[in-house]
Amino acid sequence: MMRRSLSLPAFFMPVARRLRTIGLLLPALAGLALLAGIIGFRVSEGMGLADLRETGRHRLDLYAESLEREIDKYAYFPATLGLERDVLDLVAGRAPLAWGLNRYLERLNERAGTLSIYVLNRQGRVLAASNWNRPDSFIGEDLSYRPYFIEAAAGRQGRFFGVGTTRGEAGYYLSSPLAEDGAIVGVAVVKVSLEQLEQSWSTVEAPVLVADENGVVILASVPSWKFTTLRPMDEPTRRHFDQTLQYNARPLAPLGLMPQDRIAADAELVRLSRPAEGQLEETVFPVSGGFLAQTAPLHGTGWAMTVLSPADQVTGMAWAQAALAAVGSAFLGILLLMWMQRRRHLRELERKVEERTRNLRAAQDELVHAGKLAVIGQLSAGLAHELNQPLAALRTLSGNTVKFLQRGNLDAAQGNLERIAHLVDAMGALTSQLKSFARKSSGAPRPVAVRRPIDNALFLLDQRLRRSGVAVQVDVPEDIAALCDPNRLEQVVVNLVANGLDALAGREGSQGGGRLTLTAATGSGDGRVRIQVADNGPGLPADVLPRLFEPFFTTKETAKEGSGGLGLGLAISAGIVRDFGGALTGANGADGGAVFTIDLPAATLPIDPTAVQAGDFICPTLPSPP
Ligand code: ADP
Repeated sequence: MMRRSLSLPAFFMPVARRLRTIGLLLPALAGLALLAGIIGFRVSEGMGLADLRETGRHRLDLYAESLEREIDKYAYFPATLGLERDVLDLVAGRAPLAWGLNRYLERLNERAGTLSIYVLNRQGRVLAASNWNRPDSFIGEDLSYRPYFIEAAAGRQGRFFGVGTTRGEAGYYLSSPLAEDGAIVGVAVVKVSLEQLEQSWSTVEAPVLVADENGVVILASVPSWKFTTLRPMDEPTRRHFDQTLQYNARPLAPLGLMPQDRIAADAELVRLSRPAEGQLEETVFPVSGGFLAQTAPLHGTGWAMTVLSPADQVTGMAWAQAALAAVGSAFLGILLLMWMQRRRHLRELERKVEERTRNLRAAQDELVHAGKLAVIGQLSAGLAHELNQPLAALRTLSGNTVKFLQRGNLDAAQGNLERIAHLVDAMGALTSQLKSFARKSSGAPRPVAVRRPIDNALFLLDQRLRRSGVAVQVDVPEDIAALCDPNRLEQVVVNLVANGLDALAGREGSQGGGRLTLTAATGSGDGRVRIQVADNGPGLPADVLPRLFEPFFTTKETAKEGSGGLGLGLAISAGIVRDFGGALTGANGADGGAVFTIDLPAATLPIDPTAVQAGDFICPTLPSPP
């Protein structure tokens, strides 16, 4: 077997084209994956953050409520001291300090679990205190500069977070004016510890902090966050704190909360840097990284509570989803490309098949035409013979007629002239039949009464039939019509009858008895017409049957008289019948011999079945030999 060799450029051309296509496709795929990744990230992040916001909101509400409840517990505490006569007498200066009052305050402080309880006179000096017996007792101290005193002295409830000046203990101061007959005579103060307030957070799941009105963290679930600042503090503010000793000169370092992105009025993405080694604390939640910060003011104070929900998980999840979306879309893209490629291949294939079919059809048309010419070639020999006889007869008849005329035998002359006219008619019919047969037919199927093309075919072969001595039996009703082209159907019948004659040729002369039967019938209710050409020849051998319709398949040796031996007759005929939407089949008959069946779609004829149709040839009555 020869190896097909390809020149190098021819080999590389498709590769180069493919590379160019891939070069264009790869960036497109990458772009698609990137886009899907970005969308995946955004959608997942958006959904994750929405979830986080929802839980954060719940946490914030819960923690804020519990803290407010805790503070409220002490809200009216200092005011109740104004109900004590001893207290009022003392601050109004009507009675000296009774030690019993100090002890009363001490017991009250123990019971309530507060840090300290004390009363001041109008000038801001502490007159009685729960810690009276301790070395760092407030008694005698001037606290008039403390904001909570100033507030209460002005007749308002004082609320103040601060670090104690004596023990440096942070606490929440609640103060109330002590009034007598509408005049403020003193101030009562209760100091609550941060730990007490923080107890309400025993179950927090995310870091939470409370900043006071100055932005200083005063409560935090992470101890080291306490006394840090949320926003930078300017010098005047710092100096003011130093004066009021609010934070007792604590350094107030910034917490280091970096705002990243505000996603709603009450929610902001922030980042907390990792605390330095050694400052790490044991917590159940992360204390550095990305957080969703949600803040709400605490009623009754100037404070704001902030819940920090860890957001790194959401981002991590969003990255995972983005990667998934990117890989998924790339995969889908590849699938789509493969599908498109396949479709292109199929289309290409279809186009090729269509082109081949067109070429084959054209070739077949050529063959049909060539086949006709071949038949005409075959016929011409016989035709010359066929015409020679009447010509000779004409010669004789005309000679005789001249003689009859000379003799004045007009009757005989007229008889001869009539016979001459008959002969000329017959010859004319023969030639016009040949003309119609050789014409290249358009082949468009139309309703045709099949009897006519069958008669025409038999007429064409009349001379061969007569010479062969084969008996022809035709059983084709006039009204059977099929969808076909009469000229082409005629050619098919010519081929089948000629084949039958060839097959019967063996019997010719010797014993005779050759018989050809042509029948046509309409199938019962299946809308088909079946024309059969049967002979009683040798039939179709088993090795011939499957190859019957193969072009150029023939068992005939040489072009005998009347037979082509080209092996095209049945191939062309089958093609013609197929074009009509029918089928040509060959089989062996019950009594031996071959039976060929032309199966055609049935048709109904236009009004007059006997009317002459364009392209039809009316078979004349066969001329009787002179
Ligand atoms: P060709 O007639 O040129 O051989 P065809 O295609 O018409 O080509 O026929 C192909 C072959 O089919 C013939 O050579 C013959 O062997 C077989 N064949 C066709 N018709 C008959 C028939 N009526 N009886 C027996 N054999 C037949």
